[in-house]
Amino acid sequence: MRSFRFLAPFVFGVVSVAPATAQNPFAPRVYPPSPLATPLSMDSAPAYVRRSAVTNPVIERIWREGMERSQAARFAQTLFDSIGPRLTGSPGMRSGQDWLLQTYERMGISARKERYGTWNSWRRGPSQLIMTAPRARAIEATMLSWSPGTNGQWREGDVVLMPDVKSPEEFAAWLPSARGKFVLTSPPMLSCRSPQQWQEFGQPGAEAAMRKQQDSVRAAWTVRMLAATNDYSAKLDSAGALGVLTTNWSQYPGINKIFGSPRQKVPTLDVGCEDYGALFRLASNMQGPRVRLMADAEFLGEQPVFNVVAGLDGTSKAKEYVILSAHFDSWEGAAGATDNGTGSVIMLEALRILKTVLPTPTRTIIAGHWSGEEQGLNGSRAWSEDHPEVVEGLQALFNQDNGTGRIVGTGPGALPKARPFLEKWLGEMPSDITKWIRLGQAGPPATGGSDNASFACYGAPAFGLNALGWDYSFTTWHTNRDTYDKVVVDDLKNNATLVAMLAYLASEDPERVPRDRMDPLPANPQTGQPMTWPGCVKGMRSSADYRR
Ligand SMILES: [Zn+2]
Repeated sequence: MRSFRFLAPFVFGVVSVAPATAQNPFAPRVYPPSPLATPLSMDSAPAYVRRSAVTNPVIERIWREGMERSQAARFAQTLFDSIGPRLTGSPGMRSGQDWLLQTYERMGISARKERYGTWNSWRRGPSQLIMTAPRARAIEATMLSWSPGTNGQWREGDVVLMPDVKSPEEFAAWLPSARGKFVLTSPPMLSCRSPQQWQEFGQPGAEAAMRKQQDSVRAAWTVRMLAATNDYSAKLDSAGALGVLTTNWSQYPGINKIFGSPRQKVPTLDVGCEDYGALFRLASNMQGPRVRLMADAEFLGEQPVFNVVAGLDGTSKAKEYVILSAHFDSWEGAAGATDNGTGSVIMLEALRILKTVLPTPTRTIIAGHWSGEEQGLNGSRAWSEDHPEVVEGLQALFNQDNGTGRIVGTGPGALPKARPFLEKWLGEMPSDITKWIRLGQAGPPATGGSDNASFACYGAPAFGLNALGWDYSFTTWHTNRDTYDKVVVDDLKNNATLVAMLAYLASEDPERVPRDRMDPLPANPQTGQPMTWPGCVKGMRSSADYRR
């Protein structure tokens, strides 16, 4: 880098008229904190935020165990770095579940796998994509989940666009020319700069203009894809195409979302925004892009799938239950760290804390480490169907599934009489935890977002714990950057301690949480009519039921 000493007199004031800090290219940028990252003000905080020290000795012990002797970071590092992602039915999921069982066993907590069906098992191996023309370059690309591999062979061919056809017949006429080619099936991004940069540095209106142009590129591309076929992967495969390249950019340089489907018939890779854009422009301008691919992947057939369930048996109310809920499966472009490794670690650590502090709870406390959430809450739906007695005896379920941040919100769902219980339980806890938490009012019942819906649909008290986002949707959710380093360890400790306290208070509460439903339910914003209670959806028990 050229020295900035030369520039210093100009930058720092000799001839500058702007404030020096604004001119320093290395000055750290200062951002305001997100509103939810600010604690409730003690002057106006709701009554459940304590103004005095905690008096309950069990709560104090949970605090010390969770905050001073936390194992959460150690669990997370092993799970995310050493075992990695946990795609439903995959060998990675099997290793993760084995590790969970061993970890519980070492802590003296009983845990078991419960089979709920079968799923299409797929093993990811390494993959490599190289551009060989018009110049040589390693391409940033990730094989999609359930993609076929290349059977140990390198495949090399030209890169072409999906054709601009008007009908399936035109597409069928084009198909033979796909033989020996790699086909681009996503619209390109016109810019891989984040929208924030366009807003911050663009000329007035530049960000909006870029967005508009991008929208029209995307819309035209959708028309092109729909006109051609609804099943391009199988058709390209039978036509002898070598592979499909897609891109699913997550609005930050270097971050893409990685999904995939058992319906992919031809090797399919997600390519980073910049490299995909380059391939797309080279192909559009007839500049002869070629790539070479080696992808190792293996289909292992329809294999049994399991939820892992661990717990502490209750004593006088053993047939009543508190469930700590988080799905253990993940997408697998990275390590599945914040979706939902952190939720899983919170429940594991909370049970560890409880085993130390409250080994014989009044009600039975269960940690439910569900599988198949990413394909439609399948593990938890199947489990709630298979255990009607637990749904019936459920005192409270706490689910966490939106990233690594500290818990800043919860609420009673559609059970208004549950709210005073949440209020009372929070009121027992130290304000260090509760000063972050906005306790909501009763509202619409949970639907399909995460596993609490699999229990809430029965009218059982199943609550979601909402974490501070840390820009979850764009940074880590289903991305190739969902890795251990994104974990916010202090927030993880806070959350495990909070969940252990909630479980303890729900378990020992002399009263049952009432199930009176909100009536009428809030209005559906589309129709203006009151919503109807959501029915319970059956979990898919086999990948044959999976249509995506
Ligand atoms: Zn999730």
